[in-house]
Amino acid sequence: MSPGDTRPASTGGRPAGDKVPVVGVLALQGGFEAHAKILTTIGADVREVRTPQDLGGLDALILPGGESTTMTLGIAREHLAGPLRELIEGGTPTLGTCAGMILLDRDHLGVLDMEARRNAFGRQLHSFEADLEIPGIEGPPVRAVFIRAPWIADHGPDVEVLAALDGHPVAIRQGNVLALAFHPELSGETRLHRLLLEYITARDASRAR
Ligand code: GLN
Repeated sequence: MSPGDTRPASTGGRPAGDKVPVVGVLALQGGFEAHAKILTTIGADVREVRTPQDLGGLDALILPGGESTTMTLGIAREHLAGPLRELIEGGTPTLGTCAGMILLDRDHLGVLDMEARRNAFGRQLHSFEADLEIPGIEGPPVRAVFIRAPWIADHGPDVEVLAALDGHPVAIRQGNVLALAFHPELSGETRLHRLLLEYITARDASRAR
C-alpha cells in the first residue's frame, strides 16, 4: 500500500503485490468484534463469517470466545462444520480463543488432537488474569484474561504446549492452528494476532518454494 492510500480496510480488488491478509472471524455469537478491532489495528482485512460462502479466499481464520454450545448449534444450523474443517485441515492459519478453542477439540470440529474441559477453573474462578510466557512472543509476558475458561485435559503428541497454568495447558499449537484458553483480544494484546499473520507469511513462503 502506498503511503497516501486511503483505501478502506474492507475493500477488495487490491493490486498484486499489495497483499493485505483477509482474516475471517466466526461471527455467529460471542466476542468477534474485539478480534475484528485488533485485526484492523494490525493492518489485516476482516471478514465476518456466518455462512459457508463467507469462507472463500480467506488467508486465516479466528474462532472467538463466547458460548461453545450456542456456537456449535449455529455451526450446525449454517452447515459450517464441514467447510470449517476443510479450511483448517487444508492448512489455513487458525486461532481459537476460549470457546473457540473448545470448538477445535476432538468432541467438536475434531481438528485438534486434544480434549478441552469447559469451565475448567471452577465457579470460584469465574474470571481472572495471569501473565504468561509464550515461546515466540518477544517482550513482556502476555497478559491473559480468562473468563469461564477451559483448559486442555488431554492431548496427543502433535500438540505443542506453549503455556500452562497449574500444570494445565492453556495455549497450544498444532501445525497451523493456535488455540488459547484465554482472551488476548480483551487486554489490548496484539502479539498473538500478529503471530497468526506470521503463520500466513510462513505458509505463503513454503508454497512459493
Ligand atoms: N465457558 C464458555 C464455554 O464453555 C467459554 C467462555 C468464553 O469463551 N469466554 O463455551
